[in-house]
Amino acid sequence: MSVRIGIPKTLSYYVYYPLWEKFFTELGAEVVVSQNTSRRIVDDGVKETVNDACVPIKLFHGHVLNLKDKVDYIFIPRLVSVNGEQIYCPKFLGLPDMIKSTLRGLPEVIAPKIDLRKGRFELLKIVYQVGSILTKNLLQIYSAFKEAKSYFEDFNNLLKEGYTVEESLKLLEGEEVNVDLGQEESSLKVAVLGYPYITYDPYISVNMIQKLRGLGAEVVTTDMLTHRQLDKQKPKLKKDLFWTFSGEVVKAGYHYCETGEIDGLIHVTAFGCGPDFMVDKLLELAAKDKEDIAFMTLTIDEHTGEAGIVTRLEAFVDMLNLRRKH
Ligand code: SF4
Repeated sequence: MSVRIGIPKTLSYYVYYPLWEKFFTELGAEVVVSQNTSRRIVDDGVKETVNDACVPIKLFHGHVLNLKDKVDYIFIPRLVSVNGEQIYCPKFLGLPDMIKSTLRGLPEVIAPKIDLRKGRFELLKIVYQVGSILTKNLLQIYSAFKEAKSYFEDFNNLLKEGYTVEESLKLLEGEEVNVDLGQEESSLKVAVLGYPYITYDPYISVNMIQKLRGLGAEVVTTDMLTHRQLDKQKPKLKKDLFWTFSGEVVKAGYHYCETGEIDGLIHVTAFGCGPDFMVDKLLELAAKDKEDIAFMTLTIDEHTGEAGIVTRLEAFVDMLNLRRKH
């Protein structure tokens, strides 16, 4: 029987899942993903975490519990830095420790420290460290990683085209997705900016992207921009933000405000997120500079109800349509 490796369907799942999934399966492991976020997963996570933790961290605990009895290992990388400059939010840095000290009876946790500030060779070391759990054959490990990297590039190209994470994964597997990205020239364009583990999780974001599409708006996100486009916005910040995801969200907001291609900007933020206090203000100020771009913040917490969010989205789109008319 092959080794079963569990990947919680939240946090870095929404960025790196295809890379690690391909890598592990190429090495003969079976990858088991936790179930979609549900009321049960949220409640389980809430019970295990301190009250003032942000929602995504609470959710993560729930997803790990969902995998606990189904796998031989749980993969929880300690994400420190991948671009060699910024680091991830401190909660990502301490994630494996937090999980191991909070949840009892877990299978072995694979927790490689991913800090590419130490140079390019660091990545090869990490790949070997993780791969050697499944085989000691160096060649096999590196060829699995090569495959995984190319699969991961295809995934990122689909995100750039405007597909969501789930849609991109389906397309990579040859499944059909029922989505029309070719919106009319005249349709409203709304930027939905936030951390990928919030904006793409259908439960916690109450399917916001699909709902906006259903209201006739074209949705653009941070993932649709290239690193070069994001980097171009750096000079607008007096000092680059410390945290990777936060920096990307702000720069994406600056980009869309600068090009003026959007009618509205929605910042989706998690209740209890420290970095988002700053991100929200910076985005609000950027949108305020452009009179014709409307701005709205949607704060998500474990009690967020679908009806409340839908009403706000509908009102926002109505308002954008009215502004267009006048
Ligand atoms: S960036 Fe915010 S939402 Fe994300 S893990 Fe850190 S505190 Fe939580």
